[in-house]
Amino acid sequence: MQDLDLTIRNGTIATAADTFSGDLGVKDGRIAVLARGLAPGKRDIDASGKLVLPGGVDSHCHIEQLSSNGVMTADDFYTGTVSAVHGGTTTIVPFAAQHRGMKIKDVVADYSKRAAEKAVIDYGFHLILADPTEEVLTQELPEYIGKGITSFKVYMTYDLLKIDDYQMLDVLLAAEKHGALVMVHAENHDVIRWLAKRLLDRGHTEPKFHAVSHAPLAESEAANRVIQFSRLLDVPVLIVHVSGAESVRAIQAARALGARVYAETCPQYLFLKGSDISRPGMEGAKYCCSPPPRDEASQNALWAGLADGTFQVFSSDHAPYRFDASGKLPKGEKTSFKEIANGVPGLELRMPLLFSEGVGKGRISLNEFVALTATNHARIYGMYPRKGTIAVGSDADVGVWDPDKETKITAAAIHDNVGYTPYEGRTIKGWPEIVVSRGRVVVENGKLSAEKGSGKFVRCGAPEPLKHERKPTTEMRLFKALIS
Ligand SMILES: [Zn+2]
Repeated sequence: MQDLDLTIRNGTIATAADTFSGDLGVKDGRIAVLARGLAPGKRDIDASGKLVLPGGVDSHCHIEQLSSNGVMTADDFYTGTVSAVHGGTTTIVPFAAQHRGMKIKDVVADYSKRAAEKAVIDYGFHLILADPTEEVLTQELPEYIGKGITSFKVYMTYDLLKIDDYQMLDVLLAAEKHGALVMVHAENHDVIRWLAKRLLDRGHTEPKFHAVSHAPLAESEAANRVIQFSRLLDVPVLIVHVSGAESVRAIQAARALGARVYAETCPQYLFLKGSDISRPGMEGAKYCCSPPPRDEASQNALWAGLADGTFQVFSSDHAPYRFDASGKLPKGEKTSFKEIANGVPGLELRMPLLFSEGVGKGRISLNEFVALTATNHARIYGMYPRKGTIAVGSDADVGVWDPDKETKITAAAIHDNVGYTPYEGRTIKGWPEIVVSRGRVVVENGKLSAEKGSGKFVRCGAPEPLKHERKPTTEMRLFKALIS
């Protein structure tokens, strides 16, 4: 056998499809061999009693991003990636966010420079499109898809980000034509705006009214609307951060008809509830994100959807804001629910939380865990099989998990720059003790040994289609020829 740089031996290796006992050997940053009885390499890790899993891919996180209201996230590409890797994630796909009037060229150049200087793990990008002009859709988008940015997020709400239905149809059709995937934040803008105004007019300003204004029906209506657009045009769409039971049902109904709908949910919708936002005083602001956490019935629908394949991806939607005037509370105690910076942190705990409460409690299998936290992200966003799996030839991105290690969650132990965690005080079981990125041991027993700027940009290819998708009918083909 060739000289291996690193071996991880005697562990239980799991992929999205398979679980087996064996050894893994790394050469030049890639997995070179999977076998039994490998001789130790230059560095050898004994994984007896441990799980050897693909490094996580977190395809929804907001890092060093300026919000449409001009608030900078608390994490930059250094603290964000350091936090991610401590929790077993070795690839992130954050956003390069266009605000209205900006050229995509300038947006991508700006984010690329900052990420290249600071990231400690590999990263791709999605675009946020707030201004899908003719020029953006016909020239800039195809250019950047060719450069490896093959997905973009659009918003159905937020004054300065939202696109209307007419623009949505343009975006969906253009994306499919050029081989990209559209991620949609689905909430009905006018319903939220109307409810919020009535609440504020009546003096209801506390954080808990955030959840009242972002009603579950505002989400399910918008999700259903964009699903129907995707069916109208027979194009794929991914509904991000699904929170409510009714939205889950809308997705399931559409997929039963063969619709090309992908879906994502996040830790905050499984592990937090609307009642957290109702905590007294401003405390509830720590739990404010959009859509907001819901109730137990929704949590149950999401768990069922994770197990039955309704959801393909489990992402953090890490949107880090500190609990002070720089983030959550621009007006201190006087901040109304409409002014609280939206978002919760979750990059580091995404995998450990799902491992503990999903795999540990028998709600999902170990293979489903790998699919939901790594493999499906890599497939859907065109990074597979370089990322998201353990296979010969893949990048050696690996987590060595102690399935029995108990951890009491405290903000002090987390490596992001947020200063609080919505999961404070919970005890979870299972943690990635050693994390390897492209063959480098970057975290070992809580200690980081990766240099700032050592992460690399990953070019994404075309999204992989879902297995259940139907072949287009002749009528559909004729229709699309007419409108394309
Ligand atoms: Zn969103």
